[in-house]
Amino acid sequence: MKIPKVDPEKCVACGNCEAICPEVFLIEESDNLSHVIISDFFGLEGCIEAAVENCPEDAITYEEE
Ligand code: SF4
Repeated sequence: MKIPKVDPEKCVACGNCEAICPEVFLIEESDNLSHVIISDFFGLEGCIEAAVENCPEDAITYEEE
């Protein structure tokens, strides 16, 4: 299964991923970074890929584990 991950060193909290795919990504107030908030990504592949493509910092990876 492909797993999305956010690199905290690259994320600038622009909000794009959360806007595109709020089921998966959330900007958490505690550290002001995007986090993956679920572990079952079935049916969400398209929105995850759109979030990857629209991250200005290339902070999101989406690869097989
Ligand atoms: S789109 Fe990229 S830079 Fe913007 S909040 Fe999401 S992970 Fe961070």
